[in-house]
Amino acid sequence: MIFEPELETLPREQLRDLQADRLRALIGYVRERVPLYRERLADVEAGDIASIDDLAGLPFTRKDDLRDTYPFGMLAVPREELVRIHASSGTTGKLTVVGYTAADLDLFARVNARSLAAAGGKPGMLLHNAYGYGLFTGGLGLHYGGERLGLAVVPVSGGLTERQLMLIEDFRPDVIACTPSYALTLAQAFRERAVAPDELSLRYALLGAEPWTEAMRSEIDAGLGVVSTNIYGLSEVIGPGVSCECMEERAGLHVNEDQFLPEVVDPDSGEPLPEGEEGVLVFTTLTKEALPLVRYWTGDIASLSSLPCACGRTLVRMSRIKGRADDMLIIRGVNVYPTQVEATLLELSELTPNYRIVVSRTGTLDHAEVEVEVSETFLREAGTDSLSDELAHVHELRGRAENRLRDRIGCSLQVTFAAPGMLPRSEGGKLERVIDRRAAEVNA
Ligand code: ADP
Ligand code: ZN
Repeated sequence: MIFEPELETLPREQLRDLQADRLRALIGYVRERVPLYRERLADVEAGDIASIDDLAGLPFTRKDDLRDTYPFGMLAVPREELVRIHASSGTTGKLTVVGYTAADLDLFARVNARSLAAAGGKPGMLLHNAYGYGLFTGGLGLHYGGERLGLAVVPVSGGLTERQLMLIEDFRPDVIACTPSYALTLAQAFRERAVAPDELSLRYALLGAEPWTEAMRSEIDAGLGVVSTNIYGLSEVIGPGVSCECMEERAGLHVNEDQFLPEVVDPDSGEPLPEGEEGVLVFTTLTKEALPLVRYWTGDIASLSSLPCACGRTLVRMSRIKGRADDMLIIRGVNVYPTQVEATLLELSELTPNYRIVVSRTGTLDHAEVEVEVSETFLREAGTDSLSDELAHVHELRGRAENRLRDRIGCSLQVTFAAPGMLPRSEGGKLERVIDRRAAEVNA
């Protein structure tokens, strides 16, 4: 079902006109209200914006702009008009703080209701919401989106896996929302307790907040007996609900571009890239009141496609996020994203989606080692718990995994195996896939 058909299926010409009108209003709004934009957009008049193509001439806004004006310096409304504050942890230092007016929260609920509807949710269903509640936008975002669509929301939050399993068995929810890594944790926990996927009531899963792959999707769909869709967002733009797949195609995430105008630009030059080419996603919020952003540089790598979709939505689709530009490892000159490693490992049935990449540096050379858990079946068929490389089958599997990684990615990564259950699992939130020892070694 489509939650707001009048906007989600608007003919693209009309959509472009709506975006241009909103963009003109936005430029006037931020120049009047936000000191940073008053200065940076001093030469731009709202009247200069004839179409959304004129965005390309404007400067980017970056995470550092939010950090430099911490906590409330980018707000376009007096602090008293805020009704909610969220913050994202980022990787280092201060939080990135975002604020919402009542109208912003209404928008936040609507785009999450759109996402839940696109993912299979319908009024009357029960939503098990295992996204973290708190400063993180995921929990409350899906919470209000669920209520808006007319679902009964169980605000479980992340963590306490035993209790999650019990609530899923007892309440019999139709829909689950959480990170893909946590969905996998839950699927594995059910399997360990010999609860089969078809005994579970779950039908749909809305998963996001971290990069994942099609191979991972197959594992989760099979493990929980669900049809899972990918939902994307970031706190600065609003939180979850910036874009979401539809269950009809599950191929690309429809961007709520009547509200958040996407661009894809070259990571080095910042020049806009043609449709279909991969680059950094940039968003301009068209209607937000408290924290409007012009050309916000997300660092996330994806491409756009406006091909028609079976669901009837006309909203442009973005590809799965390959990773953040920051997550890209440069191994002996080759660019490597953890999602590429994940997709390759999961082509081998002996390996599981429980993996991590440990990066270190010798001199100026980066060295990456992939640790991955083997499947229980592999161990059982081998007839031993040992993963010693002296065993022929272990040696053979390692060779196969390393060759495949070299073929797919173009550089050699060393593979080591762990027994099932030995590597860290998601305990509710985003799972850190890369352990970077380089910074520590430089300081040592
Ligand atoms: P933090 O920066 O602390 O992680 P956010 O919760 O705002 O804070 O995270 C937003 C980021 O999470 C996005 O910029 C993107 O890198 C990642 N992300 C969110 N949803 C997805 C998704 N479906 N696929 C891949 N990455 C995602
Ligand atoms: Zn669609």
